[in-house]
Amino acid sequence: VQRRTRQRETILACFLEEDRPLSPREAHALAAASLPALGIATVYRAINGFLAEGLLSPVVVGGATCYERADKAPHHHFFCQTCHQTTCLDACSIEAPKLVPEGYRVQGHELTVTGTCPACHQREAQVGP
Ligand SMILES: [Zn+2]
Ligand SMILES: [Zn+2]
Repeated sequence: VQRRTRQRETILACFLEEDRPLSPREAHALAAASLPALGIATVYRAINGFLAEGLLSPVVVGGATCYERADKAPHHHFFCQTCHQTTCLDACSIEAPKLVPEGYRVQGHELTVTGTCPACHQREAQVGP
């Protein structure tokens, strides 16, 4: 039981420390740094537990489901198409009520900006001739 608790704590800490949406594979890679015997099935099980407990919420970015801490205010995401990492964005300039035709009621909106992150952009620039 103690081993399970430690695994859960380490997995949750990855989500809290990274402070951005992680795919189960990313969370597994991060947690495995301190828990070498950690299996991906344990990560999935822990994530399901955190969802049920309201600690994590799912985010669909780039066609895949990632998870991030649930205590953040509504915000948007940047998805890097090269390394597939998702970053949280603070600013929101969308005026959703202005986008929808009359008669529709807006309750919220989700936005993912796609492109290249600074690390990938730099790497691509260095590969050039
Ligand atoms: Zn990238
Ligand atoms: Zn986020």
